[in-house]
Amino acid sequence: MHNERLPWHDEQWRQLQQRRVAGGLPHALLLTGQVGLGKGLFARRLARGLLCASPDSEGDACGQCQACRLFQAGSHPDYREICPEEAYKNTENDSLEKKSKVIKIDQVRDFCVFLSYTAQHGGYKIVLLEPADRLHVNAANSLLKTLEEPPGDSLLLLVTSQPARLPATVRSRCQMMRFKLPPTEVVIPWLAAQLPDGLSPSVLLEVAGGAPLTALTYADTERWRRRQLLVDSYERIMTGQLDPIQAAENWIKGDLAENLRWLIGWHTDLIRLKMNPDSPRLGNSDLRLVLQGWVARKSLRTLFERLDAAIQLHALCTTTQVNAQLLLEVFLSDDTGGHPSGAL
Ligand SMILES: [Zn+2]
Repeated sequence: MHNERLPWHDEQWRQLQQRRVAGGLPHALLLTGQVGLGKGLFARRLARGLLCASPDSEGDACGQCQACRLFQAGSHPDYREICPEEAYKNTENDSLEKKSKVIKIDQVRDFCVFLSYTAQHGGYKIVLLEPADRLHVNAANSLLKTLEEPPGDSLLLLVTSQPARLPATVRSRCQMMRFKLPPTEVVIPWLAAQLPDGLSPSVLLEVAGGAPLTALTYADTERWRRRQLLVDSYERIMTGQLDPIQAAENWIKGDLAENLRWLIGWHTDLIRLKMNPDSPRLGNSDLRLVLQGWVARKSLRTLFERLDAAIQLHALCTTTQVNAQLLLEVFLSDDTGGHPSGAL
């Protein structure tokens, strides 16, 4: 398993450490950028380094001291991680079971009090919020005072792939640190070192849209197998061999957000292929032949509409409490082409 030092973070790490040495670390950092870039790992690495009693010259934790051991055990008294309270309950079908996906006002009040106390180890007090865009609006308001007048040696780390969902009042009081897609020449050697033999780093990275940690999750053969199952299922829906209502049951299994990201990726590729049948750049180059078969069935206009619908579906299913199964049934029923009933 990779550690938290990721090569594409080097530049941002160096900049932040320079500021730390100069005593100019902000009190609130907003770490943004798409999923799969390791923003959360970066935030934890920073927290660990700041709490460590003897960090190395680059600001990384020693891993040996008492503070490091406490951090490792998840019990450092000057560090807290805040996540949406019920979103992390693992259920068989978590999209349907999630009741609340917000960071609540009580959670915010609680850690604001924590930040106002003197650090037990005499250094920083750090709170990490992930994903910070799940801050309930009242919770965000109660955070403003702490952001306005941060207690000394306190640090708030807000991690999100969707900063626009945070109130502007919160965003404007944080220092923004934006993570961009790293260059492939940096990622490929790193990815190759993490992958088991037989998997191509470049194909996985392409399918992951360039996000290295997402690419790494595809090395899990179960996920890869699931993607293939969904490809087959989608094809059978389009040719009228599979009832979309039946298919929707499969689509909501596993990681629904990921399943929907695939759907978005395929439609992006279909549009590329429609505009240029020999398009050299595809997000799913391993599926080129399959996608070429699909593209012939739809007009460019339809493909754009389907892409929009897929994006909306992803947004709805990942941020609000909805009946994902029903929405998917509706979406997939539109793909039955010349088979309106969707059945055989
Ligand atoms: Zn240490």
